[in-house]
Amino acid sequence: MNDFPAGTVWLVGAGPGDPELLTRKAERLIRTATVIFHDALVGPAVLDLAAPRARLVHVGKRSGRHSKDQASIDRLIVEAALAGERVVRLKGGDPSIFGRSDEELSACRSAGVPVSVCPGITAASAAAAGLGCSLTLRGLARKLVFVTAHARAGETLDIDWTALADPEATLAVYMGKAAAGEVSRQLMAAGLGGKTPVALIENASLPDERHFHTSLDMLGLTAPVALGAGPALLLIGNALGRAKNSRSTTEQAHRLKYLSEG
Ligand code: SAH
Repeated sequence: MNDFPAGTVWLVGAGPGDPELLTRKAERLIRTATVIFHDALVGPAVLDLAAPRARLVHVGKRSGRHSKDQASIDRLIVEAALAGERVVRLKGGDPSIFGRSDEELSACRSAGVPVSVCPGITAASAAAAGLGCSLTLRGLARKLVFVTAHARAGETLDIDWTALADPEATLAVYMGKAAAGEVSRQLMAAGLGGKTPVALIENASLPDERHFHTSLDMLGLTAPVALGAGPALLLIGNALGRAKNSRSTTEQAHRLKYLSEG
């Protein structure tokens, strides 16, 4: 299939971390690329699929540690394509969800570089799978909202909390670890019940995946204590009440027993 000639760019979703959660198309594109610009969230097991001679360029941004600004990334991608490379821009999860893909698509298009997108499994899907629960529930959770709670340093979150405080919605909060306390306060102030179930999932789909169950009123206290340095998602809503009874609770119990027995 010649959908990846020299001088073209693919924005590829790497999924949540487990290399088996790549699409077959993503795997083929990664194997074919001559250069791969990847995020911090793309792990070594996925990068191992690259051709031996492919150039791997880390352009990751993790909060607080910006290694490259967006304009520089856009420029690198375009320059590589104009130099005749097969360029993969590899992003965690799905490129269209909090992935700045619009900037990269526009940069390619305005430089006349052909660009396409390969979707990926987003963190919320992997988190639900890990919890063994559904993000929507017939009659109970009719709406699924992807929202980012990432604020620029020193700024408060600019979010319509009233629209989010919907007991029939499941909220998947990306980049919400640092703002967990504010998310909790604001949602309750907007009328969402303090006992609304919340699940925190760190490193979804990776060997060190961890789950925690709490409620909205405790979220601000739980998140900083429970979560470590890995990427984490906050899932909020009545659908998560079911997750509590799933196998994750048993796994946590085993882990706690193991820890307490030293
Ligand atoms: N495009 C990505 C999201 C990028 S924003 C996607 O579709 O998943 C980065 C945020 O995604 C992280 O701060 C975290 O909230 C979430 N995230 C990404 N990978 C994750 C993982 N394996 N486990 C839990 N959350 C993850």
